[in-house]
Amino acid sequence: MSPPMSASAFLRALKAEGLTVVEVGDWRDHNRNHKGPWGPVHGVMIHHTVTKGSAGTVELCRRGYADLPGPLCHGVITKDGRVHLVGYGRANHAGLGDDDVLRAVIAEKRLPADNELNTDGNRHFYGFECENLGDGEDPWPKAQLEAIERAAAAVCRHHGWNERSVIGHKEWQPGKVDPRGFTMTSMRKRIGDRLA
Ligand SMILES: [Zn+2]
Repeated sequence: MSPPMSASAFLRALKAEGLTVVEVGDWRDHNRNHKGPWGPVHGVMIHHTVTKGSAGTVELCRRGYADLPGPLCHGVITKDGRVHLVGYGRANHAGLGDDDVLRAVIAEKRLPADNELNTDGNRHFYGFECENLGDGEDPWPKAQLEAIERAAAAVCRHHGWNERSVIGHKEWQPGKVDPRGFTMTSMRKRIGDRLA
């Protein structure tokens, strides 16, 4: 059982991992806490945005849209490798997912297939949205992949988690395909090496 870190601790952890962090608006208090619980936290979830253009991507993740109000994550990782903090607390990124997956994340064991929509992920996961079209062709620049590795590692390091606490949205919620263009297995390897 891990309570979420404070907004200040989150910012400190990201900077300590060597990331360039951009604080956007009232990110510390921008959340969906009035709609449900935030925490205990159990892991980190990686997404792609299906957008092009950093400024618009960050703004969309901050504001959300009519059917899904923002914030849509905690940090937006743009192609240049910067992490833009758009919200902190409960955020609309994970949706409903599979309780068997959550149990595996908590136990840091191999993930089962995700085939149920029965568990509130927004309560339990930190979320990073990554600027990419998600078509399998849009490139993932080196700086961006390294930032994903560092951001996930920063959260894991704070909580004493290993790389198995980091999952892709597609490993959580049936029907999701993100992130697409690199494998979560390769990203977990990188995170594990960084934490070692
Ligand atoms: Zn997603």
